[in-house]
Amino acid sequence: MALIHRKKTRPVKVGNVMVGGKDEVVIQSMTTTKTHDIEATVKEIERLEEAGCQIVRVACPDERAANAIPEIKKRINIPLVVDIHFNYRLALKAIEGGADKIRINPGNIGKRDKVEAVVNAAKEKGIPIRIGVNAGSLERHILEKYGYPTAEGMVESALHHIKILEDLDFHDIVVSLKASDVKLAIEAYEKAAEVIPYPLHLGITESGTLFAGSIKSAAGMGAILSKGIGSTMRISLSADPVEEVKVAKELLKTFGLASNAATLISCPTCGRIEIDLIKIANEVEEYISTIKAPIKVAVLGCAVNGPGEAREADIGIAGARGEGLLFRHGEIIRKVPEETMVEELKVEVDKIAEEMIQK
Ligand code: SF4
Repeated sequence: MALIHRKKTRPVKVGNVMVGGKDEVVIQSMTTTKTHDIEATVKEIERLEEAGCQIVRVACPDERAANAIPEIKKRINIPLVVDIHFNYRLALKAIEGGADKIRINPGNIGKRDKVEAVVNAAKEKGIPIRIGVNAGSLERHILEKYGYPTAEGMVESALHHIKILEDLDFHDIVVSLKASDVKLAIEAYEKAAEVIPYPLHLGITESGTLFAGSIKSAAGMGAILSKGIGSTMRISLSADPVEEVKVAKELLKTFGLASNAATLISCPTCGRIEIDLIKIANEVEEYISTIKAPIKVAVLGCAVNGPGEAREADIGIAGARGEGLLFRHGEIIRKVPEETMVEELKVEVDKIAEEMIQK
């Protein structure tokens, strides 16, 4: 499946990662550790990176957190975003400390000279600012105008913050419009994509636990992504943030928006099943989770309909009585003993992945 064309946006550089200006959707997550606990934070970031996180954000609620930024930055490989609520001194410290992007709403910083200090510091270091509009914390004047959080109000809030930055000739902007109400979030992003030229950071906030939150996020962000909107995303879950990255990767694969991840095709099983499919599917899924090529691997319960049903797979196995059938693009290439079929599949997967990466 070809990449779904993203709405054209201005490209914004976050460290060595480009957000916007192209079809790719960059995966982000946020640490759950106390940022001042450098060891724990770095360890969590390493796990996130291994899972496929491309940009990581840390909270910066106080001086201790801001002081930890230089050391964290030194020890990690992916770009670091520092999240500040309104304290401009913390923002300046984070920028000075090597943040690759800060998340702060300029309208919440306060006096003009403080806003200017932050914007000038960001300009000097060449780092972007993300404006984070949240339906739950819209400005009073907007709430008074609309009565309650609406998509129009959220976009108006974003434009209000954008104008402050543009007036200071600052254009390295990323914007998010998060809501926990899925319909509201979809509407807000759709409206924003029409009028905002900057990359949009997608999120359904407070979406819930791993299972429920993944479904809610997939429903909301899926609708937005399917319209070609969004340049970066974070799945927000009450769970280990590594799970956020896994869900984001899976969602992007669904839309053909991940060029560096393998996909598993597995049958739902039925009375024709000839192998322990659920166990095998889980084992293969685990194995391919670290493969950085867009290979499609199929695991099917039987040979009757299997290979034909998974014609788009680059490689696959189907159970037959006492053995397995290895197939490529729907064509059977050889029979393999049941005991070794998963191992043989893994070898083939590695070969194809290598070929793809070298191309
Ligand atoms: Fe049933 Fe075979 Fe189809 Fe799996 S591949 S659902 S076992 S017919």
